[in-house]
Amino acid sequence: MTDAPCALLDRLPDGFLDCPANRLKDILPRPTLFDLPGRDPKPLFVSTLLHGNETSGLAAVQEVLRRRLARGLNRSLILFIGNVEAAAQNVRTLPGQRDFNRVWTGTAFPDDPLAHMARWIYDYVKKRDAFAAVDIHNNTGFNPHYSCISKLEPKYVALAQLFSRLIVLFQRPRGTCAAAFSELCPAITVECGKSELDAGAAHVIELLEACFSITQLPDHAPASHDVELLRTCAIVKAPAGASFSFDGTPADFIFRPDIDHLNFSELDAGASFGALGDEEARLEVLPGDGFDTQPINYFDYAGGKIRLARPAIPAMLTVDRRAVQQDCLCYLMHRIGLDGVAE
Ligand SMILES: [Zn+2]
Repeated sequence: MTDAPCALLDRLPDGFLDCPANRLKDILPRPTLFDLPGRDPKPLFVSTLLHGNETSGLAAVQEVLRRRLARGLNRSLILFIGNVEAAAQNVRTLPGQRDFNRVWTGTAFPDDPLAHMARWIYDYVKKRDAFAAVDIHNNTGFNPHYSCISKLEPKYVALAQLFSRLIVLFQRPRGTCAAAFSELCPAITVECGKSELDAGAAHVIELLEACFSITQLPDHAPASHDVELLRTCAIVKAPAGASFSFDGTPADFIFRPDIDHLNFSELDAGASFGALGDEEARLEVLPGDGFDTQPINYFDYAGGKIRLARPAIPAMLTVDRRAVQQDCLCYLMHRIGLDGVAE
């Protein structure tokens, strides 16, 4: 198809299965959707490299296809390889580029050409009655592997459980791939730790193997002891233009150097995130889901310290400066039950 806003291929180009993410651009010059047939026509949709420096998903997909392609796939696979240009530079997004995981249905940037591409891909998959959708990511801090869903329904939880017992329910940020595909089929984002660690790819291989092996997802709620459910309640950002450090260097925000070791721990009010260099500086706290309309005061700055004002469980805390600038400092979460209600 020539009018497609991304490349559309029905076979893998030579060299694809062994190509590292930073050289992919040589054989896939632009974002590419692969439509690979399998015995069950209901496709699995897999997206990866929406962030160019998050490479575990590509490695996992390559391995699963190496294992399975010669004898034929059990199930059709629609595979989207996203930001090949950022991957060539080993960065999340290039300067001036939109984030490939903020342009899907519900995006704040509906007129962006990437949003047009995302819509086209969504419509392409919609016509095919997808079995499930999996979007594969890495993060930069110390985080356990976990999956994210935006609908608390049995098939969605079951899909998430194929990857982890730790499941995060999220509504924000807007325009993520998994939230968009949640309107079509069970959909998850998986966060499989740091890119450079083999354990992330190995874990995603298990997930994809399971998605190819099972014929359906269970339609009944899991036992509550089989899942640990958290809800994202706030997204914390350093204000644009503010300076920050993680090594004690003077800055508006002087975060503690081990801040990324706090991820997924149950912190009490008073837990320290660091200190203020500018005592007027304040973190931006955005509501994490569509139900919070009132800004919630999560931080206390008394005495020039940055402390939690209420209990919370952080995720994605990082000491990677670019991750903080391009995305956020962290998410704050609370534990919930299978009914979605805070415990
Ligand atoms: Zn990502």
